[in-house]
Amino acid sequence: MSDRAFPFLRTNAREPKPRRRGITEIRGPYYTPMGKRYLEDVLETMGEYVDSLKFAGGSFSLMPRKAVKELLDAAHKYNVVVSTGGFIEHVLTLGPEAVDAYINECKEIGFDIIEISAGFITIPTGDWLRLVEKVQKAGLKAKPEVGIQFGAGGATTAEELEELIKMLASLGVDGMLLTPGYHYQVLTNDDIYLKSDEMPFKFRRVRELADHYKIINTPISLDYLAGDRDLSCSPWTTVTRNPQGWKGPCYLITNGHYKTFQQMHEATDWEFYRTKQDFRCRDCKLHSGFEGTVALDFGKNLKDSWRMVRYYVA
Ligand code: SF4
Repeated sequence: MSDRAFPFLRTNAREPKPRRRGITEIRGPYYTPMGKRYLEDVLETMGEYVDSLKFAGGSFSLMPRKAVKELLDAAHKYNVVVSTGGFIEHVLTLGPEAVDAYINECKEIGFDIIEISAGFITIPTGDWLRLVEKVQKAGLKAKPEVGIQFGAGGATTAEELEELIKMLASLGVDGMLLTPGYHYQVLTNDDIYLKSDEMPFKFRRVRELADHYKIINTPISLDYLAGDRDLSCSPWTTVTRNPQGWKGPCYLITNGHYKTFQQMHEATDWEFYRTKQDFRCRDCKLHSGFEGTVALDFGKNLKDSWRMVRYYVA
């Protein structure tokens, strides 16, 4: 930026827009709404650094068409391209006509990119390519999401998990923390998540592998994951703060956002969550809740404490 304040302070050099490297994408309406005035403010002050604006979760489909168009126009004014973000996986469930109408409307309204996301569904490669072609034929850029998901539901075997651990070890990673993508009672696509009765099979093997690889889960939490003991949860040991404030009661469950840690602390019935009484806690064995318990329980049981000492000095 030529008229930047504090020009004598060095910043990293970037190519001028449109850039091909070092792309910065910002989020459109996501947890909070975004209107054209907000976006214009952002771009007026920081537009130089922004290459792309991405909507989230189909938020555009809830807004007046005029308001969506105004956001897109504001972005284009600052040479910022606009992506739909991941939503087509929802549209796909509504049938081929809905997909065509969706692509046409994206074109009409002024989107530049349609993301072909597949975080929640599996699309056969042939169908995926046809979808990319469809988007390109409409004159838009397709942005296919490619992800590798390990440990999803019962479909991933303990052997595959072992392969992953070996592969990561061969890359020289400093440590691996394995945590189950657990089944969460409010989810509808629950077949991709691990249920509590599936976890022990996977984690018994992980516990064996921990003797040979840099798996940094504590031995006590591995026992818990392997189904050999119970642990209470200590969500207050790993709290989450995001742009909306302190998120309570834990990283996973959102009962509210609070301005201060004190407010969150006072508003939360920690005993209720410690004892996993909430229905959403039923299958949870996430490290953020349970590794804290392991640390807090240190010294209460001689054998466990000895195992922890060995774990720390290993
Ligand atoms: S059990 Fe899981 S979901 Fe429940 S409070 Fe603990 S970390 Fe959060």
